[in-house]
Amino acid sequence: MSIYGQLDCKDCKQSIFLGKAIRDDRGALRYFVVGTASTDEYRTLSRAVFKFFAEHVGHDIAVLYDYQWEDLYGDEENWLQIGDDDVNGISFDKYLKGWPGWPR
Ligand SMILES: [Zn+2]
Repeated sequence: MSIYGQLDCKDCKQSIFLGKAIRDDRGALRYFVVGTASTDEYRTLSRAVFKFFAEHVGHDIAVLYDYQWEDLYGDEENWLQIGDDDVNGISFDKYLKGWPGWPR
């Protein structure tokens, strides 16, 4: 069974999907991977994460596995999903529009 991770701000109810959790033979988390994302897509994700850090300094932020998040919060409809362009989300393009940090 795959486990996924996300970066969350509990105070603002905002979340960024980080991808599938990749573990070593001992079960320790090594990194997150987003499917077949290109280098440019990882760069966009990295820019979004750094914008997120800047916007949520001092807030209650955490990196959680999906099952932990569901246990803690459970009400996904009230959270803004950054990078997920559905009804509860905002695309990375819109999220990063006009952000001066990190050149493209
Ligand atoms: Zn926040």
